[in-house]
Amino acid sequence: MSTVIVGAGQAGAQVAATLRKEGYDKPITLIGNEPEPPYHRPPLSKAFLLGPAGETALHLRDESFYRDNTIELRLGTWVTGIDRTAQKVRLTGEALAYEHLVLATGARPRPLAVPGADLGGVLPLRSLSDARELRARMTSARSVVMVGGGFIGLEFAAVAASEGREVTLLEAADRLMGRPVTEQVSRYFADAHAERGVRVRLGTGAVELLGRRGEVTGVRATDGQIHAADLVVTGVGVVPNSELGEQAGLAVDNGILVDAGLRTADPRIHAIGDCARFPSAHLAAPVRLESVQNAVDQAAHTGRRIATGEARTYRELPWFWSDQKGIRLQIAGLSTGYDQVHLLGDPADGRFSALAFRAGRLVAVESVGRPAEHLAARRLLSSEIELTPVRAAAPDFDLKTFAA
Ligand code: FAD
Repeated sequence: MSTVIVGAGQAGAQVAATLRKEGYDKPITLIGNEPEPPYHRPPLSKAFLLGPAGETALHLRDESFYRDNTIELRLGTWVTGIDRTAQKVRLTGEALAYEHLVLATGARPRPLAVPGADLGGVLPLRSLSDARELRARMTSARSVVMVGGGFIGLEFAAVAASEGREVTLLEAADRLMGRPVTEQVSRYFADAHAERGVRVRLGTGAVELLGRRGEVTGVRATDGQIHAADLVVTGVGVVPNSELGEQAGLAVDNGILVDAGLRTADPRIHAIGDCARFPSAHLAAPVRLESVQNAVDQAAHTGRRIATGEARTYRELPWFWSDQKGIRLQIAGLSTGYDQVHLLGDPADGRFSALAFRAGRLVAVESVGRPAEHLAARRLLSSEIELTPVRAAAPDFDLKTFAA
């Protein structure tokens, strides 16, 4: 009997690595539908677009790692179903038995549901194959419209503007990165991108993509304006790949639902990373996170649990980074539901931290250009030390000293 991991991405590869590190000596099969070995996605919206970095630099591990650790890597292979009674996963023309099954299937771009979304030159950005096409199209593009002002949209817009493209960014909500960051940080990024030449249009969505001979030529926005474009990138969120769980009768609601130990209601099946919704110890509510830290830490937790049998509650602090061409945002914690913000430093200097409080408790710290404060925030939010808004507002307050 073996462990089968579905999804050879950030989380899947880490489960396999942790299993071996923890001394697991049974067979491990890591199955992924993409043709490439597990790779880093973050560079796809950043340095990779600027080339000429080779694709092997993206790989999480050398192929020899899988060989040396007897991890069977099956690429270009879809898992099409789970038979829970027989404890088998279905691949095309084959069934594979498991003792433990880890679903690490990630997420896919939410399609832009407007007429013209199928025109040439309209691209999402999730996979290496998306990024290859985008990089090729970037070379000849003059006017670019980015639909969606989340992390990936802003990273791409910053790269395109730095390369001299005319960039318009449409965001239907009234602020950028609306879900994961505080208003103060949204405002800073809207100004910073505008200063770097991105035409940021808030409260403005795309209603139609216009084209000629099958290729996109522009975007009609909700305010009636038409923005010329020979390249449109869509970044309007993702949909978790939870179908395998759903078809197998597992609970699914914006992700495969797992318990505090990251296990589904079936004790043999775990779900982790972008595809899983788990009860967060830091939010006291179920949450689905899309970040490298979340994928890696949940994978390490699950690998340890399978290898050692140790059942613990998953408690890792969520943290995140986004590089927007010279502006680095680092987030510790989750600001969801915040009701008070205190700033350390001045956004006008391009270096500051926003401390987000909920009901008088520090819940997140969003730092721009202040890496040491970010690390201090991670220490603080992982500890039992309480920081009140009053203490944070004291003139002599220093986050690094307080968290030391
Ligand atoms: P994935 O890495 O998506 O891996 C899931 C894999 O499973 C995929 O290869 C998928 O095709 C495969 N799969 C799905 N269904 C099946 C099936 N039925 N059979 C076989 N295979 C299947 N995070 C950060 O923290 N910082 C960043 O700066 C950052 N930048 C990003 C930039 C981009 C462009 C993108 C797309 C993401 C970025 N992220 C960033 C997010 C981060 O990369 C993801 O949160 C992380 O990759 C999630 O890992 P995962 O293993 O859960 O999913």
